[in-house]
Amino acid sequence: MSLSDVTPGVQSIYSRGLCPGCHWSRLVVSGRGSQFLLCNKAFQDPRFPKYPPQPVAMCSGYLVTDAESHPGDAQPSPPDQATGEAR
Ligand code: SF4
Repeated sequence: MSLSDVTPGVQSIYSRGLCPGCHWSRLVVSGRGSQFLLCNKAFQDPRFPKYPPQPVAMCSGYLVTDAESHPGDAQPSPPDQATGEAR
C-alpha cells in the first residue's frame, strides 16, 4: 500500500512531514479501516515510536527513499499480458 491508497480525507495528514518519504515508514491499515504510518526504525531503536504522531517535522532517523526502494510501497507485479507469468 502506498500513500496514494490512503483515504483522501486522511491523505493530507500523511502528505506532510517526513515519514511518507522515509525509507523506514510503512502504511498500516487496521481491520476497522483506520490508517497509520508505522516506523520500522522502532524495531531497531527504542528511541523511535512505533506509530509516530503525524506530521513529523524533524527526525534523526529520516532516510530519504524513492518509490522503488520504499518497503511500504512494495506491490506484487501484475502477470505478463502475453505469458500470464509473473514479471
Ligand atoms: S525514522 Fe523518523 S521520519 Fe522515518 S518513519 Fe521513523 S519517525 Fe518517520
